[in-house]
Amino acid sequence: MMKGICDTCDQLSELFQINGRRDANCFECHVVLRSLLSLYELIREVESTGRELPELGEQLTQALDRLASRVGLSHTFNRTVVLQ
Ligand SMILES: [Zn+2]
Repeated sequence: MMKGICDTCDQLSELFQINGRRDANCFECHVVLRSLLSLYELIREVESTGRELPELGEQLTQALDRLASRVGLSHTFNRTVVLQ
């Protein structure tokens, strides 16, 4: 198990990584980030079919808010930073 500083909240912790991403996060941030990314993937998939997803958009916003408050960022947290 890798130990180090979480890239999201800067706490010393056991670190987890998501395939294809370089950042490493503590378990709590990892869980939030993972759910964010899967939501984002889902939204992109459905939007590519031309449908709209008000419900999923709401879930994504809530997940972003959780992550933003966890790392001490304001409500104006920029999505593109997380979702790149
Ligand atoms: Zn963290």
